Amino acid sequence: MNDKLDCKACGTIQMDIPDNTTENTPILCSNCGAFLGTWGELQDDFAKQIKGASVLDLDKGTIVKKS
Ligand SMILES: [Zn+2]
Repeated sequence: MNDKLDCKACGTIQMDIPDNTTENTPILCSNCGAFLGTWGELQDDFAKQIKGASVLDLDKGTIVKKS
């Protein structure tokens, strides 16, 4: 799977999503703090990834990849 949501720095898929997020809010890796993209950008990838498969969980603002 072409996993665009993976952190390029550490390879995990945990991200911090703050409250009051807008499309221009920068989203950071919750593991290493690397910049992953704006929420608007990530939402596009997110929508593609969860189509047809529940590979991701939204848990209190943290997205966790299921195995
Ligand atoms: Zn990372």
